[in-house]
Amino acid sequence: MGSYLDSIPFSGIMRIRDMMFGIDKPFRLDQGDVGFDAPDAVKAGMTKAITANQTHYVQTVGIPRLRELILKKLHGKNDTPVESVDDIIVTNGGMHALYIAFMGLLEPDDEVICTDPMWPSTRGSILSARGVPISCPLYESNRWRPDLVELESKITSRTRVILINSPQNPTGGVLTRSDLEHIANLAKERDLWIVSDEAYEDILFDGEQHISIASLPEMYERTIPIYTFSKSYAMTGLRLGYLSIKDPAVRDRVKKVLYYSCSNVCSVVQFAGVGGLENAQARIEEFRIELQARRDLFYNGIRNLGGAVLSGEPPTGAFYAFLRINPTWKPESRLLKADSQSWAFVEHLIQQARIGCVPGVDFGPHGEGYVRFCFARNRAELTGALDSMRRLFSATH
Ligand code: PLP
Repeated sequence: MGSYLDSIPFSGIMRIRDMMFGIDKPFRLDQGDVGFDAPDAVKAGMTKAITANQTHYVQTVGIPRLRELILKKLHGKNDTPVESVDDIIVTNGGMHALYIAFMGLLEPDDEVICTDPMWPSTRGSILSARGVPISCPLYESNRWRPDLVELESKITSRTRVILINSPQNPTGGVLTRSDLEHIANLAKERDLWIVSDEAYEDILFDGEQHISIASLPEMYERTIPIYTFSKSYAMTGLRLGYLSIKDPAVRDRVKKVLYYSCSNVCSVVQFAGVGGLENAQARIEEFRIELQARRDLFYNGIRNLGGAVLSGEPPTGAFYAFLRINPTWKPESRLLKADSQSWAFVEHLIQQARIGCVPGVDFGPHGEGYVRFCFARNRAELTGALDSMRRLFSATH
């Protein structure tokens, strides 16, 4: 007999990761990992904790110092009216925060309005919690934002949550204050929760500012804001994130999932987070400035290819180039049986140019015809990938 979990697909990103291990000297523009190393203050926090034998069980929801610093950050930076550290739950990265939030919020068959395209892991979390993702398209012509009238039309009596992710993976779309106010009003009128994935809160370009929906009037009580150290502090492998919940009943459910899945988040990694929040906040801005330069380097390179194969406007948030594949691009005969045009394109780039990238369709049907590159890799890797692409396309066009 099959199991419910059999119906949840693996992410295509996993398939690509496996393909990339077979490639000699690859350009890893496929994963959403930064090319920087974690700041010294992060490493010092962790090393100090190891030396001090902080290797035992700690509080389920997180060590007190880390939660205090997070509370200060939620007030100062996110303008969110969190009353006390009691609301804060430390998690194994943003992905775990999303998972425990949906496990705590959803009953079977509850609907979650999400976007198409969207990060496949979030979809996996909703499905694991036996929820039903209801997709609302994002439009390139609308700077990768949804049509809010269309979004409203997706709300039914089964809707429990609207998921937002701004800046967005994979498109880099950023919701405006007026988008957020509109969504907030819908949530209040229809009595819905908001799960707000703010993993890229620090990665905004061209003067764009991050706004947390939980900072809008009467919104924190119905919002679960989700954050991670992964992108802001170059800590992807250390696995540290957090969320904040005002409602005590929902918070207790989420705590149970945390406790029964991992007891507590790795003790020394929490001290790494303390080091980051105490002494490395300035690095966030340095990373952001460098990421903007890498974005410009990558898009200049793409423009120099002449637009015959790939096109798109630079994003103002996150660190992905979500580019349209020229619809007239035809796969070689060997790849005609690929699942889709975007899969054929990605296989072509991996096999012929050693460039890892992700097919748009992996983020949802609306992403078909696009490809995602991560431009947070170091400059040499980006330049190498662009040179390799140039050679490939000048040979085949
Ligand atoms: N949310 C989005 C949209 C992401 O793209 C990611 C990572 O790629 C995350 C959350 C969580 O990242 P992590 O689990 O490394 O904290």
